This record gives sequence, C-alpha cells and structure tokens, in this order.
Amino acid sequence: KYLVTGATGQLGSKVVEALLTSVPAEQVAVSVRNPAKAEGLRARGVDVRQADFDDPSSLDQAFAGVDRLLIISADGDNETRIRQHKNAVEAAARAKVGFIAYTSLANAANSHLQLAPPHQAAEKAILDTGIPYTILRNNWYLENELSTIQAVQAGAPWVTSAGEGRVGWALRQDYADAAAAVLTGSGHENMIYELSGKLLSQEELAAAVGAVLGKEVKVQQVDDAAYADIMKGAGVPEFIIPMLVGIQQGIRDGELAVESQDFEKVLGRPATPLHTALEQLINR
Ligand code: NDP
Repeated sequence: KYLVTGATGQLGSKVVEALLTSVPAEQVAVSVRNPAKAEGLRARGVDVRQADFDDPSSLDQAFAGVDRLLIISADGDNETRIRQHKNAVEAAARAKVGFIAYTSLANAANSHLQLAPPHQAAEKAILDTGIPYTILRNNWYLENELSTIQAVQAGAPWVTSAGEGRVGWALRQDYADAAAAVLTGSGHENMIYELSGKLLSQEELAAAVGAVLGKEVKVQQVDDAAYADIMKGAGVPEFIIPMLVGIQQGIRDGELAVESQDFEKVLGRPATPLHTALEQLINR
C-alpha cells in the first residue's frame, strides 16, 4: 500500500492524481488533517486516514500497514517543522514501513537558506531509521513567482535583489510526477535526487515571461533593503518580508543553482520546458 501525507495540499493532491494514473485506488492511502477535504478521493476508492504531524498516535494509526510512504514536508516555522518531521519519521519507523520518500530542499545538507534546518533534520532522521529512502530535493516551484508575474502583468517591473543567482525552477506538477515515480518505480532506493529545472537567472526568467505575455519585461535589480521596501509597498505582510529577503540573498549566493539531470533519471524526461510551463501558469 502507498501512502501520501499532505494529500490535500497543492503538491500532495497532484502526487495522488499521478499515482492514480498508474496504480488502482485501493492501493492508495492518504493521511490528511481534515478528511472532509479528501471526500472526493474517498469517493474514488482512496483510503483516507486522519493524522496530524503533531499527534504521534494519529500517525501510528495512519501509517499502519503502509509499504511505501511519501512524507510531504509541512509548512510553518523551523521549530514546528523540525518537531513535526521527526514525529512523522519516528512513526514511519514504528509502523515498519518499507520505504520512505521525503520532499526536501535543493542541496539541503549544505544549504544556508533559512528554510534548510527542517529538511536537514528530516533527512538525517530518515537515514537514521535504516529504512530504504529516496530524498526528493525539490528546487524552486515556478509557482513561487506567480505574484511577481502578476505584478508584471499589472505594469510593474520584475523586482529582484537576487543579482545573477540562478534557480532551477520547475512546475509543482513536475515535482509531483517525480514523487509518484519514485513511489511506484524501482531503483530509487537510497538515492538523493536533486530535482532542478534548467538553471536560469532572474533576467532569463523575466525574458521568458515577457515572451509568453508578448511584452517587454523590465528587470529592476535592487539591494535587499530596497527589495524589502518595495515588497512592503506592494502590500506583502510585514512578517513574511524577512523570509522573502532571505530567499533573494540565498539565490544571489547560489543556494538554488544546483545543476542536475535527476528529473530525466526519474521521469525519463526533463522538467516541462520553460515556455510551456509559463504558458500553463499564466493562462490557467
Ligand atoms: P501546501 O501548503 O499546499 O501543503 C502543505 C501540506 O502540509 C498540506 O497538505 C498540509 O495539510 C500539510 N501539513 C501542514 N501541517 C501539517 C501537520 N501538522 N500535520 C499533517 N500535515 C500537515 O504546500 P505545497 O503542497 O505547495 O508544498 C508542499 C511542501 O513543499 C510545503 O509544505 C513546503 O514544505 C514545501 N514547499 C516548497 C517550495 C519550493 O519552492 N521548493 C515552495 C512551497 C512549499 P492540510 O492540507 O491539512 O493543510
């Protein structure tokens, strides 16, 4: 039996759909915080189980009888995520699952991004169990740039303080397809995959967005303080701004410039080509 956590989230729901194209629904289980949100899956024959990463006994029940588990990293602050991921991995070990896949971060072990510590802790916890694993080190979601794209559509320039730093953007769908492929496929045991699209600078991404929109997109390179001010002026909630600035700094320092062919290895194809991906994103 396969089980996906976070299956009512944006990535998890795509993983489950991808799984259902290759395995019968009765072999698929999900663990969700709110089963009401998974009613559609239950109606299609998926085994819907309720669990919260902060409630170890609920995880014990949810993971019972599972062979191949995908733990989708949670959201929230680092302390919360470190605790929650540890709970999930420990429950997987108690349930004696046969395989754990986990959605991590680009170059997690050596990353200086503020987002990295929960992924470092989770990867270590998984390795410590001795259970066969696949670490899916997801690079950046192209969807993360939607608000910038919308600002550009409304006439703003492409504002960034990331300089020449390059990013391996790919669609959530690509990461979801890769996760489903390692769950159902063979030969992925004890692999750490760096799932990166083709590396691009902000200028290159902005130009590709311009090509899809049919307009020239002006890139405004600013420093971190100006970036923070512009985000504040655009109405971004103040508590999020330090994180956004930290990401720009990290990109500038090359934290997401991880060159890799692992999408091809896992999917037999590269990530969706940029122009197609942007068309899907912009015209959806
Ligand atoms: P979502 O916020 O849509 O999904 C997060 C999922 O985690 C949800 O399904 C949520 O459950 C679940 N979750 C949160 N807290 C708990 C908990 N205490 N117990 C059990 N489940 C919990 O994000 P995405 O699907 O877009 O992304 C998945 C993960 O990928 C994120 O959580 C984050 O770690 C990471 N991420 C990576 C990005 C990148 O660019 N590489 C960008 C954004 C996120 P529920 O459905 O009940 O809310």
